[in-house]
Amino acid sequence: MARYYLDPFGCVKNQVDAETMMGTLDKSGWAAAGDPAEADLIIINSCGFIKKAKQESINAVLRYKKAYPEKKVLLAGCLAQRYVSELAESLPEADMLFGNQDLSRITDAAYSALRGEGRTLVPEPGPGEKAGALSPAGERPLLSLPGSAYVKISEGCNNRCSFCAIPLIRGPLRSRPADRIIRECRRLLDRGVVELNLIGQDLGSYGADTRLTGRETGLPRLLEALSRLDGNFWIRLLYIHPDNFPRPILDIIRQDRRFLPYFDLPFQHGSSGILRAMNRRGDPQTYLSLIEEIRSALPDGVIRSTFLTGFPGETEEDFLALLDFQEKARLDWLGVFAYSREEDTPAYALKGRVPGKIAAARKARIETQQIPITQERMEHFIGREMAVLVEEEFTPAASALPGEGNLYLGRLFSQAPEVDGAAVITSGEELVPGTLIQGRVFARAGFDLEVAALPKGKP
Ligand code: SF4
Repeated sequence: MARYYLDPFGCVKNQVDAETMMGTLDKSGWAAAGDPAEADLIIINSCGFIKKAKQESINAVLRYKKAYPEKKVLLAGCLAQRYVSELAESLPEADMLFGNQDLSRITDAAYSALRGEGRTLVPEPGPGEKAGALSPAGERPLLSLPGSAYVKISEGCNNRCSFCAIPLIRGPLRSRPADRIIRECRRLLDRGVVELNLIGQDLGSYGADTRLTGRETGLPRLLEALSRLDGNFWIRLLYIHPDNFPRPILDIIRQDRRFLPYFDLPFQHGSSGILRAMNRRGDPQTYLSLIEEIRSALPDGVIRSTFLTGFPGETEEDFLALLDFQEKARLDWLGVFAYSREEDTPAYALKGRVPGKIAAARKARIETQQIPITQERMEHFIGREMAVLVEEEFTPAASALPGEGNLYLGRLFSQAPEVDGAAVITSGEELVPGTLIQGRVFARAGFDLEVAALPKGKP
């Protein structure tokens, strides 16, 4: 039995791809090795989005090949998809380059790598059914912490933001059929998952590629169908392009509390001129109205966003507009990135390039301005009794935290996996990672919230 070791890189969408490749290989008789030293094949699921991530992926290939010269190294993921011909020449350390448009072909690529047959396999994009070519619904191994899983509802993107290389890598939008998504969610729930994180490049566009065929789709309809699933679980929506925000979901979320009032809306900038240059339709005022609409429909609504600094042509005035937007938006969580000039993107040729130092300084200034805003937003939950997802037992170095009993780390609905703070849970009873419990938030500690678990059986 051949053995593989997979090293996942990059974003959560890549994580689902990694899980999919592992599930497909497991089903075709391969075994996962816990350590690269035990494997016949080392698979690196790379990221090809921005310079830093690309370099990390290449360094990983060089590192593994240096440590295990006798083993085969397969480079999969976005970097391989985007630069297959360049890498085939410049990166001989990668024995095989495998694209990410039809992951069901990973077995072919893996065996070819072992046999030394061919160096590249970049399949054509599969149709929606094969978006990311998930192995049979729900059977993939899960790389998330207990109780949580990502569910990809679409692949690719048609929005064409001028700074973004993802459409070049992931192709045009392909939405998965709703019945496949629901079946996968059902199977994950049957496996004990209690948090389903729906992902795509832009959930707001779900179904836009199928409406032409007249099939009834769209995010609201998908959520209505998911709300017919039985059980106590969470559904979180990650990445909705604010220009495509489907308002009807607000009512659906208000009526079914299993849909979390958590919205990841990448606004990117607060200057109308820069938003235009980014090929975005919205403006600061429409974005502020959207935030207000969400918060009046769902008073507990939590909003995460992303800003980009240093976009070509960004003046000091544009930057001040971004700071002003940030101050008015009062976002719960914010990630900030400095612009990365990516070839073949529309923005690549734009004039008015902003020096890296200025872009980085602007990024730092926004991050500093966001700290008190996030902490103020977090305090909104102090004193509240809320559901908490327990993720792992926690043994602090020194008993820095008040209260007796066991300590666990987990998350409230207001904290998405891996990007937002944690819930630090004190409990008089043993808790089971991967379960939802009730707790009372009693304090904030930095970007974490301290929660006292309520006795089991307390409503
Ligand atoms: S919505 Fe824009 S930023 Fe997001 S993947 Fe699509 S093109 Fe890229």
